Amino acid sequence: MRNVILFGAPGAGKGTQSAIIREKFDFAYISTGEILRAEIKKGSELGKQAEQIINRGELVSDEIIVGMIKSFISENNSKDLLLDGFPRTVKQAEALDEILKTLNRGEAKVVELEVNKDVLMQRLLKRAEIEGRKDDNETTIRERFNQYDAKTAAVADYYKKKNSYISIDGEHGTPEEISVKLIDILKKL
Ligand code: AMP
Repeated sequence: MRNVILFGAPGAGKGTQSAIIREKFDFAYISTGEILRAEIKKGSELGKQAEQIINRGELVSDEIIVGMIKSFISENNSKDLLLDGFPRTVKQAEALDEILKTLNRGEAKVVELEVNKDVLMQRLLKRAEIEGRKDDNETTIRERFNQYDAKTAAVADYYKKKNSYISIDGEHGTPEEISVKLIDILKKL
């Protein structure tokens, strides 16, 4: 069973590419950000805990996120996995390794969409106009970039050391053109 992590900074196109991939492959898909936004909408206890953190651009606790991922993977253990927005810390990556090992699923592979920060900012501000996400404002975006640099970039190094990391240019070309490169990689994984 494949365990694919679609990796990249906020605005790199993880959600967009996931949607394209899912039309072509039968992946069990989880976006931790989407789940959290749905919980906020529902007004659940988890949503209430996460809302302020997300609106500040900070990261929700590893315990909460790992708990979500653990149940999702257990429920979808017979399928290939596509993870979007997880892991975002080395702790989460280590916890994922544990989960995959326990379930005999083999190693996770990371594909990073590489995009320059200026372009990311432009994309997120444009997305704000279309989707109206509260965390897509300039101040919060800057904090999300800070969190990415401080905590998430190290996740790429973690997988590089295991030889489980590939990156592609996520900046130039249309989403469809970028997806061609991504699909090519997925076929070989
Ligand atoms: P995203 O939709 O992936 O951009 O996530 C939106 C927000 O949800 C992030 O800025 C975090 O506050 C929170 N979040 C999503 N995934 C994670 C994660 N794996 N770890 C911690 N916080 C997360």
